[in-house]
Amino acid sequence: MQNISYLTENFGKYDVFSIDSYINIGGFQSLRKAVTMDGDDIATILSDAKIKGRGGAEYPMGRKWSQARAVKRPHHCVVCNADEGETCTFKDRELITNDSFNLIEAMIIAGWAVNAEDGYIYMRAEYSHLRPRILNAIKQAEDRGFLGKNILGTNWNYKIHLYSGAGAYVCGEGTALIRSIEGKAGRPRMKPPFMKQSGLFTRPTCINNVESLSLVPHLLRDSTPYLQVGTKESTGTKLVSVGGNVNKPGVYEIAFGTTVREIIYGLAGGIQGNRKIRLIQFGGASGKISDARILDIPYSYEAFAANNLIIGSGSVLVIDERTSVIDFLRYTQDFFLHESCGQCTPCREGNRHIRIFLEKIKNGTYTDEDIQTMKTFAKVMPMSSLCGLGETAQNALKSAFNIFPEVFASRKQTEAVG
Ligand code: SF4
Repeated sequence: MQNISYLTENFGKYDVFSIDSYINIGGFQSLRKAVTMDGDDIATILSDAKIKGRGGAEYPMGRKWSQARAVKRPHHCVVCNADEGETCTFKDRELITNDSFNLIEAMIIAGWAVNAEDGYIYMRAEYSHLRPRILNAIKQAEDRGFLGKNILGTNWNYKIHLYSGAGAYVCGEGTALIRSIEGKAGRPRMKPPFMKQSGLFTRPTCINNVESLSLVPHLLRDSTPYLQVGTKESTGTKLVSVGGNVNKPGVYEIAFGTTVREIIYGLAGGIQGNRKIRLIQFGGASGKISDARILDIPYSYEAFAANNLIIGSGSVLVIDERTSVIDFLRYTQDFFLHESCGQCTPCREGNRHIRIFLEKIKNGTYTDEDIQTMKTFAKVMPMSSLCGLGETAQNALKSAFNIFPEVFASRKQTEAVG
């Protein structure tokens, strides 16, 4: 099957260090159109396209912009979350690498739509090699009057600033991200106040993921091709980053509704060595897992919800039969143990204890009570953790309880069988 190219249509078509090159392929036409429009009408375009946040939270983007606009306080700001830290997730990197001017144009349109004075791009430390192209794009946009004072003769002033993270996964969480920009330790805080009311430097703040934002200039230019593909609830296209034990790992743009089988065996070239699939994890380390039974379901929000899965960050991690389920869970738990900021007990201690129980299962020294306690932790952590990390750290484990019950079989049974 072929890649579809709507969001990726600019890839390879212009020199990402030259604004003239971008303008020659129609760059900044969407901004010119946007500044003739009311922000609510721009938000409506996003709502009609049913764009859900592509960072993982899946919050409706048009609604977010409308809510941000409705806050009647001055000094709004826009934040682009480029802290792409979910495992096997690298699609934002491709957008920043191959279409950096489109992202800058999107940031300016977002600023106009929500009445912002400043835009901030928060980029993960591992992408520091991409800083020069973003800084260059900002500078060239300023020189041409797309940024700065009196943009395109509108009397509107807007700047974009670039910040780098320092390698913490939890800084992808909105409140931790803004604290990091503010120069504080990147730890999540309680909500409310919500971002739209009091976010970065206590200003009304609208945060969007790179992929979500990158869609905006394309939709303003011509939304028809986008609206014509996809499924009933999942309009349009989506970038998926496919990795693990596949022959052709990479980022692919697909129409929603493409089956998981087409993604793995078509675009990603199947499994290395024609091995069997042990499990597939969707949406990063915080995503859920399944096995080959779901290969024929469509990749869409509604089909995933019906199968107790989440699209999340858009990653598809394929693990073949050489890795056991318990080893996969151990690695996943190591990740969360390392990345938990540690400020709240259920997440800090829950992750640590689950990791200990998994080791006991690996060694065959667990008790039935250990399994029950682990299930209790997995149930309590989402209800009592402060942020999304603690709420989702056990997603893979919880799906493993359902999909691979034999891994957690009663010791009494296994001993009797043995
Ligand atoms: Fe930190 Fe975990 Fe609590 Fe989030 S849930 S604030 S990562 S300890």
